[in-house]
Amino acid sequence: MSDSLDELIICSKCHKLHRRVKLPHKKVAKCSHCGNILYSSVADTMQKAIAFAITALTLFIIVNIFPILKVTIASEQTNLIVPEMVYIMFENGFIVIGSMLLIVVLLAPFIVLLSFITLGVLSYLKIYKHFARKIILFLIISRQWAMVDIFTISILVALVKLFGYAEIHFGVAFYALLLFVIVDIFFLKTIRPTELWIYFDRKYSDRKYSKGS
Ligand SMILES: [Zn+2]
Repeated sequence: MSDSLDELIICSKCHKLHRRVKLPHKKVAKCSHCGNILYSSVADTMQKAIAFAITALTLFIIVNIFPILKVTIASEQTNLIVPEMVYIMFENGFIVIGSMLLIVVLLAPFIVLLSFITLGVLSYLKIYKHFARKIILFLIISRQWAMVDIFTISILVALVKLFGYAEIHFGVAFYALLLFVIVDIFFLKTIRPTELWIYFDRKYSDRKYSKGS
């Protein structure tokens, strides 16, 4: 049996408390007071999460191996890839922008993708339940940083305008980065971490484990 607290869900809009019921495929539960969507079928959530992870991984690879900027100086074109750009930023003293690029484009997506893969492996093997919960909690907390990537893209655009002396064009990686942000926002809006939580709870409860906590 699961904890009775896990059976309850609070409306994020009006804070009315509801008792959770198991939903059929492609159905959503709405708040009886304000109509806000509380949760959808957990199987749907898992499918969305897997689709997100695959899309994000593809975009992550494109962002980091294709040129993000094409710089033309004296009719000679140089293609800049993200890891190279981070290096150039640091070398030229743009520590803040360099760090933001490093975190937003390289580290953050990598950590989030790694979290998803780890969650998948843990739930498949049904081990380390508490660690899996910590990863989901981390994913919930990291949502608050979602605006940072939009900010970084704005800075990139501003930078391109700033360097008026050279002809600068955006490369494939820049558009992949834009797509990544859109996918990220869509993901944050459609996947409720509480559903992931419940999905994993159910997966783990299939297996008998000693309930010490
Ligand atoms: Zn409500």
